[in-house]
Amino acid sequence: MILQNNELRDTWYAQKSTIPAMEISLYGKDIATIMKRSITPNQIKQNNRSLIYHFIYKNRKVSQQDISYALHLSRPTVTANLSAMEEEGIIFKSGLIDTEFVGRKASAYSIVADYRIGIGVEILKKEIKMIAVNLYGEKLHRMISLLPFERSESYFKAVCGKLIEFIGSFGARDNQILGIGFAMQGLTTPDKQSILYGKILSCTGLSITEFSRHLPFPCSFIHDADSAAISELWVSPELTDAFYLSLSKHLGAAIISKGMILDGKHGHSSTIEHIQMQPNGSLCYCGKRGCMETLLSLTALLNDGEELEDFFLKVRGNDLAAQKRWKIFLSDLSKAVNMLHLIYDTDFILGGYLAPFLCEEDLSFLHGQIREMTPFPEPSDFLLISKMPQHNISIGAALPYIQEFLQEI
Ligand SMILES: [Zn+2]
Repeated sequence: MILQNNELRDTWYAQKSTIPAMEISLYGKDIATIMKRSITPNQIKQNNRSLIYHFIYKNRKVSQQDISYALHLSRPTVTANLSAMEEEGIIFKSGLIDTEFVGRKASAYSIVADYRIGIGVEILKKEIKMIAVNLYGEKLHRMISLLPFERSESYFKAVCGKLIEFIGSFGARDNQILGIGFAMQGLTTPDKQSILYGKILSCTGLSITEFSRHLPFPCSFIHDADSAAISELWVSPELTDAFYLSLSKHLGAAIISKGMILDGKHGHSSTIEHIQMQPNGSLCYCGKRGCMETLLSLTALLNDGEELEDFFLKVRGNDLAAQKRWKIFLSDLSKAVNMLHLIYDTDFILGGYLAPFLCEEDLSFLHGQIREMTPFPEPSDFLLISKMPQHNISIGAALPYIQEFLQEI
C-alpha cells in the first residue's frame, strides 16, 4: 500500500538519489519498513518541498521538467509544490528556459533571493561596517559609520540606531531580517552570547543583550577570524579542511575541519596570534612579548599612518626599504606557517586585508622558505590566497543566519 502512494514513491527515489553512497546499504535494506516506521505523510510533503526548493536554489533557474527528472518526482507532485511555494513568495517564475523534455521553451523557476536577508556588522575601534546579504550570501547593501567603540549605553544605542537606519535605507521589512551577526575582534562564548576575551576593544564579558535589547531581531556575536573563515567556506563548498589565516590589522586564524570551524574545549582554538616567536620582542596587546601578532599583523607591517595600498605601490616599485620590510614579514610568515603546518598538514588560506595584495611571487618565496625549514619534501601546493578578500568578515557574520534558514526550509 505504501509504495502505491505517489508521494511516498517519489520520496523514496529522491532519498535514494541524494543520500551518500556509504549510507545506501542502510536505506537499501528495507526502505519500505523504514518508511513505515519513521516517515509520516506530512514529513514526506515537507521533504519534497525542501528537495525542490534546494534544487532550484542550487541550479538558480530550472524548469518543472528539470526538477521532476532530477529528483524522480512525479509531475503532479512538482506542480503542486511549485504553486504552493510561488504563492508563499519563496520562488518566482523567472522567464523561459530551454528544456530537452519538450519541444518548446518552458517556464523557469528561481528562488526569491531576498525573501530573507542576513545582516553582518563588523565592530571596529573607530567604525562599524554593516552589510546586508541575500539567501545566496551576496552583498545587497553596505554602509560604514564612523563610531568609535566605547563600552557605554550611548554607544550601544548609537550602533543599533545606525543598524535600523541601514536596514530602513533599503526598505526591508522587519520579518525579512533573519538576524544580525556582530563580528568582534575577540573570542566569543560557545553560545555566541558574550565575549570571552576581548582585549583589543576592552570588551571582555560584554553581553549581546547590550545590543539586542535595542533591536527587534535575533542577534549574536562571532569572532572575526571565524566569520572570515565562514565566508571562505561559503565560496569554496569543496573546502573541508584548512588553516585559515586572517592577515588584517590584527592577526587571526581559524581551523576548518570537516567543513566546520573548531572552537576547542575552552573556545580558544587557533589563537595563534599569541604564540610567542621572540621572547624579547615587541609588546603584544595580550601583555606578553613577541607574539605572532607583533610580527604578522598589519599594525606590525605598516608604519604609522601608512596605507596598505601605498605600501604595496612601494614594494612592487623600487623602494628598497619597503621591499626589505616586506621580505622580513614574509620570512616571519613562513616560520609561522611552517610550525603550524607541522602540527596540521593541510591547506593554508592566506586571507584578510592583505590577501588582495599577495601575488604568485610571494607564494613562491614562502614555499621556498618553508622548504628550507621543513624535513619533508613539501610540494608547492598548500598555500592558497583567499577567494573572498572583500567584506569577508561582515558577510561571514551574516551567513550563519542564512545557513540556518536554508537548513530549515
Ligand atoms: Zn599576545
